[in-house]
Amino acid sequence: MNVLFAVWELDPFIKVGGLGDVARSFPAALKEKGIDIRIVIPYYKVLKLGKQKKIKVGKVKFFYDKRREEVDVYLVYHPISKVPVYLVKNKTYLGLAKFPDTYAFFSLTIVEIIRGNILYWKPDIIHCNDLHTSLVPLLLHERKVNVKTLLTIHNLSYQGETSIEVLEKLGIAASRCKILHWEIKSKKVNFLTEGIIHADVVTTVSPAYAREILTEEYGCGLEEILQGKEGRIFGILNGIDNNWRHLMHNRAIKYPYLTLRTGSNKDNMLKVYSWEEGKRLNKAFLQKKLGLKINPYIPLVSFIGRFDPQQKGIDILHKMLRRINLEKYEFTILGSGDPKWEERFAWLSKFYPKNISCNFVFDEVLANQIYAGSDFILIPSKFEPCGLIQMIAMFFGTLPIAHVTGGLRDSIKDGVNGFLFDKYTSKALENSLKKAVGIWLHDGKRYKTMVEKAMEMDFSWGRSAGEYLSLYEKLIHGSL
Ligand code: ADP
Repeated sequence: MNVLFAVWELDPFIKVGGLGDVARSFPAALKEKGIDIRIVIPYYKVLKLGKQKKIKVGKVKFFYDKRREEVDVYLVYHPISKVPVYLVKNKTYLGLAKFPDTYAFFSLTIVEIIRGNILYWKPDIIHCNDLHTSLVPLLLHERKVNVKTLLTIHNLSYQGETSIEVLEKLGIAASRCKILHWEIKSKKVNFLTEGIIHADVVTTVSPAYAREILTEEYGCGLEEILQGKEGRIFGILNGIDNNWRHLMHNRAIKYPYLTLRTGSNKDNMLKVYSWEEGKRLNKAFLQKKLGLKINPYIPLVSFIGRFDPQQKGIDILHKMLRRINLEKYEFTILGSGDPKWEERFAWLSKFYPKNISCNFVFDEVLANQIYAGSDFILIPSKFEPCGLIQMIAMFFGTLPIAHVTGGLRDSIKDGVNGFLFDKYTSKALENSLKKAVGIWLHDGKRYKTMVEKAMEMDFSWGRSAGEYLSLYEKLIHGSL
């Protein structure tokens, strides 16, 4: 089975968010299942290819915005998984990621590459991801290219609404699209809507989110379109890459405590601590590094994530921090985004520098040290399509305290391997935190059992890849 995975970011060549991680690990797991999977991404100026050698495999020419454009196609292999990656190069549109032209142009490039058989390889399925490639299904229909499509929605709140002009640039008459009447009137096209309507199958990154997006509360205005697609929407929980995590653990963690599985690798020479000892040592290391008090008896509670007040729950987190007795806790915050919210958190840490450490940066080493050294991770997201933070935290034996939504609902069992709170309020978050810390302080046996249950969870990509494989098979054989 041949699958082309179309995506706009790919770690370690370019990573902007969680999708970069997915693009690194998910195709690798599919390759292990015997699928001939290849990735296509834009060849941005900032792409970091490292030592990977690129080979030019072809050129494709087509019209965009009434001008003849050329795209060079290069092949490199992913440095970890060795999955083939096609880089498509065009200085005007693909050098810098700019909505809407980059993604419209990128989608058209993909379709023209397949139409012109530039790769001498034809995918059975094009697996599109988010708005950046969600015009591919429509363009395939328009250009009469017969390839099945699957669109994965990683986050419904990013839809890509723009002027209808882009359709003209692509050479598509607005009347030929299934865009909605009011969109024709307002001269707007919504990339994700087009993807949902024209793709053969739509998936989301957790079963709970697949149900939630059919409701007004979570549907971001697309619930009716999504309801029309019912029976062709599936939720498959994302995974995390355990091999990659082990590698990061070895590199970033001062006192490694995860079991190392590699054979003759020299990393095996590292002293490996029990999780209890490792956590205690890493906690002291982190407290020192971040200027907190070195004290094993104070709970170290962390937050890692984008500072997005619409999604990540930083409003209720901030409200809770303003209310509780901060001297009983240590909090570490790692994330960046909305400057107004950064300022509000910074203000709190100015008054309580020994109790709140704010780090408004993107720092993978520190993130890993926080996962390893914290007792708890807070994930108060208002909505969370899947969420990787809770899975990574559990992998490290750090119990998540999370709002019960989307992938958090699917991956955390309240009181078993973490804590869930129902209402999206600062009070509910506070109650859940207090319950968790109560167990940590007064019921060591239960805490230990919970940590061990969390560490036993299987969030490997192999499980999700298996579910995707059976969906791909049904799609190809028309048995959906
Ligand atoms: P989203 O994709 O919505 O940002 P996820 O939970 O799916 O959220 O993935 C977030 C990923 O980004 C995790 O791997 C997390 O460790 C990482 N991350 C988020 N913020 C930072 C940061 N400031 N520094 C380092 N890693 C971060």
